[in-house]
Amino acid sequence: MFEFFNISEAVQETGKVAAIVTALFLILFSLYEIISGQTQGGKKTWNDWAMSGISLGFLAAFQRPVLTVVVFLLMAWLFPAYNGAMAWLETQYFWPTLIIFLLVDEYLHGRTHLFAHSRKPKNRLLGKVQGFYKAAHRPHHLNGGQDKRGEVSASQTFVENWAWWLFLPNYWFGLACLYLGLYEVFLWGSLSKVVWGMHVHTNWKWQYDLWLLNHRNSFVRKSMRALCHIFIFPNMHHHHHSRSANSAKNMANFISIFDWLLWGTLKIETERPEVYGWRQYDTESASVLHRFFRSTEPLKDPHRGENASAHASQK
Ligand SMILES: [Zn+2]
Ligand SMILES: [Zn+2]
Repeated sequence: MFEFFNISEAVQETGKVAAIVTALFLILFSLYEIISGQTQGGKKTWNDWAMSGISLGFLAAFQRPVLTVVVFLLMAWLFPAYNGAMAWLETQYFWPTLIIFLLVDEYLHGRTHLFAHSRKPKNRLLGKVQGFYKAAHRPHHLNGGQDKRGEVSASQTFVENWAWWLFLPNYWFGLACLYLGLYEVFLWGSLSKVVWGMHVHTNWKWQYDLWLLNHRNSFVRKSMRALCHIFIFPNMHHHHHSRSANSAKNMANFISIFDWLLWGTLKIETERPEVYGWRQYDTESASVLHRFFRSTEPLKDPHRGENASAHASQK
């Protein structure tokens, strides 16, 4: 398929390496969770595993290949002379290019995520677009059963509905950079983002960030708090997954400066969340296929009035 669309070997190779390293780290983090007992006692259910499997399978077999072809065709049509033409940029200025890549990627990702968590816009069309993103992102905040024992885990990083990745602007941006020839920057940028993203989702038995934030030495505490203004750490993202107002905080997965300086959504807590995940409707709790393919439907549930926590993100 890729030959037909003239996608070069370097691009295919980059995609393959990124997929293998991601899979290895996911296995590593998941094994740690299993061995340390962080998947037991209702913390992670079969539905969570199944949801991760469906999301990852769909991402690898459908969303990612389709998106690669669409973006490459679009770029070839718009900028035919620029296929691989910017490779000199990473050869001569690797680190500045990588940092700019990461900042743009994180901004686009975080801003779209914030949009999916915000109040409904007044403009009708914008409201409809937002409804779509909100529904697409909802499965990411559903974990465990209805018993409030569920907690977040590494594989939850990839759990969204079928549409989310297709309409995530930073995915488009990354693939456009790949078309332009930024192979190394794309590889290192994507990998550092995804590995850090999995590490902030991991259900750590011993949380190094909380240990540092609660350290008896005030210099250690303050230094860690300062670092939280630059990078997102596990407990910050765990609070994004909580059933509380903090669910609308810490929008980025890796770099927190936009949460801090632009959106006012930075939240640094010194304890783990009390409850993880939004309240699940019966249909969502019963079927992972419903969660993955039809996550728009629960929003029409007649009992939604009882379900304050499911909409905590909108407050
Ligand atoms: Zn979210
Ligand atoms: Zn998350």
